Amino acid sequence: MLLAGAGAAMAARRARAWNREQKIGKAWPIYDRTEEEALLGVLRSGKWGRIDGSRVAEFERQYRELLGAQHCVATANGTSALIAAMNAIDVGPGDEVLLPPYTFVATLNVILLQHALPVFVDSDRATFQMDVKQLAARTTPQTRALVQVHLGGATAGLDTSLKFCRERGIKLVEDACQAHLGEWRGKKVGTLGDCGTFSFQASKNLNSGEGGALVTNDEALFDRAWAFHGNGRARKITSATLSGWEMNGANLRLTEFQGALLLAQMSRLESQSKTRETNAALLTKHLKQIPGVTPQVIDEGCTRNAWHLYMFRYDPAGFAGMTRAQFLKALGAEGVSGSGGYTPLNREPFLARVLESRHYKKIYGDARLRRWREQNQCPQNDRLCEEAVWFTQDMLLGETREMDFIAEAVAKIQKNAGELVKKV
Ligand SMILES: *Cc1c(COP(=O)(O)O)cnc(C)c1O
Repeated sequence: MLLAGAGAAMAARRARAWNREQKIGKAWPIYDRTEEEALLGVLRSGKWGRIDGSRVAEFERQYRELLGAQHCVATANGTSALIAAMNAIDVGPGDEVLLPPYTFVATLNVILLQHALPVFVDSDRATFQMDVKQLAARTTPQTRALVQVHLGGATAGLDTSLKFCRERGIKLVEDACQAHLGEWRGKKVGTLGDCGTFSFQASKNLNSGEGGALVTNDEALFDRAWAFHGNGRARKITSATLSGWEMNGANLRLTEFQGALLLAQMSRLESQSKTRETNAALLTKHLKQIPGVTPQVIDEGCTRNAWHLYMFRYDPAGFAGMTRAQFLKALGAEGVSGSGGYTPLNREPFLARVLESRHYKKIYGDARLRRWREQNQCPQNDRLCEEAVWFTQDMLLGETREMDFIAEAVAKIQKNAGELVKKV
């Protein structure tokens, strides 16, 4: 079964050589003198904001080259990159926006901030991504945009969603906040739809504490995103303005400190990504052999997974009826910290309250909101939220024997589940 054969005996020895008191993976963030000097350089220059300095602009240039995108605007965080996207494609009251229910709350919040109507498209439990086969059933003449999330760093069904959106004039925003260097058929995710958004928040694979970026190949969209992120000031003044304010906007600018930090961190991204890929493949090889554990399926079009999250589905039936909560606790006792991941976003009480607000009633009317409540069912996602188990990207930066150790811990719990379930 698990780790069968001679290679397995070696893997088991490697796993035992790992000390369970040690943290699995690498302490995150990872930095050295490169980052220290980059930050001191900005400090001593006295040019701390992008309006005066050059680090953010240089980061935008390098990031867009890395991704193969024509344009990039850095933002204060991933949420603000999504807000800039919503405004650049002109999502507003009365518009409907499609999104998956299996995502971070920011994907939903940016739609609500525009007073647009979020419409959830159920998940595919195998891939953990949005089930693109269900797009048509959720689309109406009011559908303005789709926010497709490359969850955990992988993506699925992008050919279908791109074609679907193109045929109907729906804008496709790629929420690639977890998918730095992820690819779909050899092209970087974030560059395939109308625009893509990234997060550089502390937990993400590319980190400046807080930070974000929007990339696009559409110059008009870029102009609007650029203007929006700087209180509406245009890159090139094209119409009559009193003071250069071309449109409404906000201040979503990144600081020079973060720009310098990102330039340094970016030099580590490719090698870290390779380590995650190697370790994820190893984990999958081991975990696939354990009853009750089903690793995430990667769509054949996803030619590179950023592995922000390592995800699998847990089935109590393979573990003598042990609940997921009990399994996670047992795993923690073995020195491996896993998480149960997201709860169903479409069923959040705060969302129901927003849709009952006087603003939403005024914009959409009682009949549309009633229909929304009736249709707001994502049964596959409800199940996924109960069966998911996640490991974080920093764990995937460990050594081979640490991956062996994780697999051994899961196998051990599975083997002893009958006994354990009586104790926990
Ligand atoms: C992290 C994240 C965001 C938000 O990014 P912040 O930088 O935290 O604002 C949005 N969407 C997804 C899928 C994310 O993982």
